[in-house]
Amino acid sequence: MADSGLRHPFKVVIVTGVPGVGKTTVLSEFKKKAEEEGLKVKIVNFGTYMLDTAVKEGIVDDRDKIRTLPLRRQLELQRLAAQAIIRDAAKELGSDGVLLVDTHALVKTVAGYWPGLPRHVLDELKPDMIAVIEASPEEIVARQARDKTRYRADIGGVEGVKRLLENARAASIASAVHYASTVAIIENKEGKADEAASQLLELVKKL
Ligand code: ATP
Ligand code: AMP
Ligand code: MG
Repeated sequence: MADSGLRHPFKVVIVTGVPGVGKTTVLSEFKKKAEEEGLKVKIVNFGTYMLDTAVKEGIVDDRDKIRTLPLRRQLELQRLAAQAIIRDAAKELGSDGVLLVDTHALVKTVAGYWPGLPRHVLDELKPDMIAVIEASPEEIVARQARDKTRYRADIGGVEGVKRLLENARAASIASAVHYASTVAIIENKEGKADEAASQLLELVKKL
């Protein structure tokens, strides 16, 4: 299968969802559970790869400013991130491992909605699954407001989050077409990130 060009030897799961829904939180719960079960996992944050390059180039120093850069710059950071993630994962994972990529199917940039998983990214990642983490717009806005470590005001309150949620789910499905990835919609209920992580783990074990 790995030689078909459709998959890497290790499994690849892309985890998407609007800013503040709880992707990074769910993935940290996922890591504990997966390791307890002896599953070999590598979790990476796509934005961190983009930020590392942007910081080296001196163009931005905050992950929430990446989406305000000129789009040609963001495209180059996106391309380099996808390549570096697969290079690092290939070094670390064997055929029994799972790479989880914490990222976005749709980014609300200064120049409009922009795909996080266009073809050139998918050609690198070749995902087995695209998970979409969701919650109600009201819950997401409350989580954004409580989290003082990040700037997410540009997403636009309940109305902005609602529109992004709808379009981001559609973007995940569109991205899934290229590599025949499954799409799993997972509800991250209030105070129940561990349940969302368990659901994700059960699905990953079926790949
Ligand atoms: P971004 O795309 O901006 O990185 P994210 O989807 O990774 O956002 P997190 O940083 O994981 O979001 O979570 C945002 C905030 O919501 C954090 O303060 C986190 O503690 C909180 N949170 C996450 N999941 C839940 C949950 N199930 N119930 C309540 N609060 C949650
Ligand atoms: P995060 O910490 O997940 O919010 O990521 C920080 C930032 O990185 C996001 O707000 C986007 O600007 C950028 N980013 C993350 N993943 C992607 C992607 N797949 N394509 C383009 N930009 C991305
Ligand atoms: Mg995050």
